[in-house]
Amino acid sequence: MKNAWDFCSDNQIKQIGLFSNEYKSFLSQCKTERECIKYFCALLEESGFVKLNSLIQSKTPLKAGDKVYTVNMNKALVAFVVGQQDLQNGLNILCAHIDSPRLDLKSNPVYEEDGFCMFDTHYYGGIKHYHWVALPLALHGLVCKKDGSKIDICIGEKDGDPVFGVTDLLPHLTEKQKGFNKLLSKQEEIEGEVLNLIVGSRFKEGSAKSKILDILQEKGIQEKDFYSAEIEVVPAGKARDFGLDESMIIGYGHDDRSCAYCCIRALIDSKNLQKTAAVVLVDKEETGSPGATGMKSKFFENMVAEVMSLRGEYKELCFKRALNKSQVISCDVTAAFDPNWKQPYNKNTEAFLNGGVAFSKYTGSKGKSDSNDANPEFIARLRNILDENKIVYQFTEMGRVDQGGGGTIASILAEYGMEVIDAGLPVLSMHAPWEVISKLDLFENYRFYKAFVETANF
Ligand code: MN
Ligand code: MN
Repeated sequence: MKNAWDFCSDNQIKQIGLFSNEYKSFLSQCKTERECIKYFCALLEESGFVKLNSLIQSKTPLKAGDKVYTVNMNKALVAFVVGQQDLQNGLNILCAHIDSPRLDLKSNPVYEEDGFCMFDTHYYGGIKHYHWVALPLALHGLVCKKDGSKIDICIGEKDGDPVFGVTDLLPHLTEKQKGFNKLLSKQEEIEGEVLNLIVGSRFKEGSAKSKILDILQEKGIQEKDFYSAEIEVVPAGKARDFGLDESMIIGYGHDDRSCAYCCIRALIDSKNLQKTAAVVLVDKEETGSPGATGMKSKFFENMVAEVMSLRGEYKELCFKRALNKSQVISCDVTAAFDPNWKQPYNKNTEAFLNGGVAFSKYTGSKGKSDSNDANPEFIARLRNILDENKIVYQFTEMGRVDQGGGGTIASILAEYGMEVIDAGLPVLSMHAPWEVISKLDLFENYRFYKAFVETANF
C-alpha cells in the first residue's frame, strides 16, 4: 500500500502544515453557506478581487488579469480571473458546494414539553439520525425582521456560550425496551421528528417556553420572527488535528468546504492565465441542487454573459461557445476506505486517505444512473498536468458495485457540453457531524486545482 507521506520532503510537510492550519481556522468559523460566502468575499477582496456588479454599473471594461467576483443571495458566488484569450475559447472552471448536512429549525420551532422548552427541527441533506443525538450543538444563522433589518445568530462556539442538544436514552433502559434495542443496535433510524433540541428548563410564570421567549425578546426576536429566519443547527466546536501524528483533521463540513476552500485559494494564487478561470461555489447540492442558489440555477451562466459583455465579446453565439468549450473540475469529496467498516468497499478501486486527489470518472448508482461519465480524452490531458506537477492522485469509485451511490453537480455542468470530471478529497465518516480528512490530500487538491486553472489550455 502506498502512503504519500512517505515521499514528502521536510519542506513539503511544512507547507502542508501551514495550509492545514489556515483551513482549520476557516472551517471552525464557517458552518453555514452564508458564513462561507462572507469569509471568501473577505479573502477575495484582500487579494484584489473587485465586485462585478460595480463594474457592470460603471460599464468598466475588463482586461486580461482582472479579478472579479459576484455573490448570489448571500449563499453562492462566482469569481473570475480574466485570461489572455477570449472567453469564447472556453473557461477553466472549478466548482464546489458549500452546504453541508445538518438540522434546520422549522418555521415555528418553539414549543414546551414536560417542563422543557424545545426547538423543533427538520434535517437537511443525507444524515444518519442517530449521529445527531447526545452531542453539543450550536445555532448559526439569521433572523430577518419586518423592517428589513437582520439579526445574526451564532450561539455555541465561543468559550462560555451555552450549547444545545438532542438527548438520548441511556443503555440501561434501552436494553429493556426490546423495540428500541432492535432499532438502536442496528444503528438505524431514530425518527426524524424526534430530533428536537432542548433549549431551556427554567420556568417563568409556570412555563419554560416563556422564559426562553423572554431571552429571545432581549435579543430583539419575537416568536413570529422565526417565520423569516434561517437557523442551522450544527456541531459545536472547532476543527482539530486528528491522530497522534497530526496527519488528519476532524471537522464539521469537510463535504464540501474542503474543496471549496482549495478552489478559492487556487484561484487567488493562480498566475499568468491563458484561459479565463472561474470558481463557482453553490448551495443546495445536498438536496439535489435546486433553487436560485443551487447549481441548477442560471446564475453562473448569467455571470459569464456579464463578464463577456464587459470584455466586449458578448454575442449569443460566442456565449454558447464559451460554455460549450469550457472544462470543469467538479470539486467534491468522496468516501475513503474505512478500516472499521470494510464491507461496502472494494479495496482495489476505493479512495484511500493519504492517496491524494481522488478522481471519479463517474458517480451515480446502479448502472451509473444520473452520472456524468468523464471522457478519456479529457482525463488523459489531466493526467499529464498531474504528472508534470508531481501531484499525488488516485482513480476511484465510491463503494462496491450496486452498494449504493450518489451524485454530484458534475452532470449539471456537463449539460452545456463541457468536459467535466469529479475530483476531490477522500473523507472518513462522510456526512457525520464530525468528518475526517488527510492534510496531505487537502494540499494536493489545492495544488491540482491551481495547476488546472493555470495550465489546462487544451
Ligand atoms: Mn459533496
Ligand atoms: Mn455530501
